Amino acid sequence: MDKPEIIMAPGPTPVPPQVLLAQGGPLVYHRGPGYGRLLREVSESLQEIMHTRSDVLVLTASGTGGLESAVANLCSPGDRVVVPVAGYFGERFAKIATAYGLDVRRVDYEWGRAVRPEDVAAALAEAPTKAVFMQQSETSTGVIHDVEAVGSVVREAGALFAVDVVSSLGAVPYDGDAWGVDVAIGGSQKAFSATPGVAFVSVSSAAWEAAASSTSPRFYFDWRLYKDAFDRKNPENPFTPAISLMQGLREALALYFEEGAEAVLTRHRLLSEGTKAGARAMGLELFGEHPERAWAVTAVRAPEGIDGDEIVAKVRRDHHVILAPGQGPLKGKIFRIGHLGYYDRLDIVRCMAALESTLVELGHPVEPGAGVVAAQAVFTGR
Ligand SMILES: *Cc1c(COP(=O)(O)O)cnc(C)c1O
Repeated sequence: MDKPEIIMAPGPTPVPPQVLLAQGGPLVYHRGPGYGRLLREVSESLQEIMHTRSDVLVLTASGTGGLESAVANLCSPGDRVVVPVAGYFGERFAKIATAYGLDVRRVDYEWGRAVRPEDVAAALAEAPTKAVFMQQSETSTGVIHDVEAVGSVVREAGALFAVDVVSSLGAVPYDGDAWGVDVAIGGSQKAFSATPGVAFVSVSSAAWEAAASSTSPRFYFDWRLYKDAFDRKNPENPFTPAISLMQGLREALALYFEEGAEAVLTRHRLLSEGTKAGARAMGLELFGEHPERAWAVTAVRAPEGIDGDEIVAKVRRDHHVILAPGQGPLKGKIFRIGHLGYYDRLDIVRCMAALESTLVELGHPVEPGAGVVAAQAVFTGR
C-alpha cells in the first residue's frame, strides 16, 4: 500500500493545507491593486522577520537565483571577494562568484566546521575586498555559522556582507540590521513551508550603491528593475511573477505571524533538541560543530559499517519518511534530518521510530524505543 511520504529533508518541506488552498485559488491579476497589496504585504512581512529596514525584493526563482542576483548586483568582474567554504552551499557561492569573473579568495574548511571570524578577518586584511559571501545555515552539514561575529569583522574591513539565509530564516534567530548584513537571501520552501519557486533578497543602502555601479551583466535579476516596479503607486514585479506561489507564500507568512515569531523559534529549538536526544539515545553520533545551534537540520554520522545512503533509502522504502543523504565528501558517511518548517513533535517521534527499526534491521544495536523515549522526554520536559 502506498502511503504519502513525509519529507524530513531540509527543503522543500511539507506544505500546510491552508497554503495549498491559497495557491489553488483564482489568480490575482499581477498588474492591479490586488497583487500590489499582496506583494507589499509579503515584502513588509519579510522585512519584519529579517529585522531589517532594507528593501526586500521578491524574485521568481529558487534560492540559487537569489544568490546569483547578489553576486551580479554587488560586484563587477575582477572584484576581490572572500567566500568561506565549509560545505556544499559555500561551494555554490564560490562557483557563482567564479562564473561572474570575480577574484575569489576562498577560506576553506573541512566540511562540518563552523566559519571562524578571525579567518575571515585575516583574508580581508590581505587586500581590499568588495564583499563577503557566506551562509547562516550550511545545510549540507547542519552547521549554523555565526553571522553576527563575522558581520562585525566584515563591517570593520568596510566590505559588503551577503548572507544566504535560505535554510535558516524562521528556524534560528536572525537580526539583519543589528548584525550588519547588507544582503540576505531567503527562499519560500524551507522554514516557511511554502512551495519552492520564490526567492527574496534584502538590499541595504550600501548594497544599492554597489548595484548602481556594478558592471556585471544582468537582466532578469537586475535589482533596479524590481525596485522601480515596486515603487510604483501600485507595487508590481517587473515580469510576470509566480502569482499562485505568491498567494501561497502570503498565507504561509500569515501562519508564521499567527503562531508568533518567538513561538516559531521555540518550536524549531525544541524539535531539534528532541531529534538530537533521540539520535544520541540510539547510540548515534551527531555530526558538525555546535550541534546545539543546529535548529534547522540535524546531521548524524552513520554508524561504523553501515552506509548512510542505505539508511536513507531504507527509511524511505519501509516507512515513507524522506531523510537527506550526505553530500560531496560526506556521501555515505552522514545522513540528515530536516526539522525546519511545518513539523510537530509527533513527526519527530515518527522519524525516530522509523530510524530505530531501520537501524535494528541493519544490524546496529538499538534498544527499540530508546530514541522515541529520549525525544519525548525533551518534549515533555522530563
Ligand atoms: C536550499 C538552499 C538553497 C537554495 O537552493 P535552491 O535549490 O536553489 O532553492 C540555498 N542555500 C542554502 C543554504 C539552502 O539550504
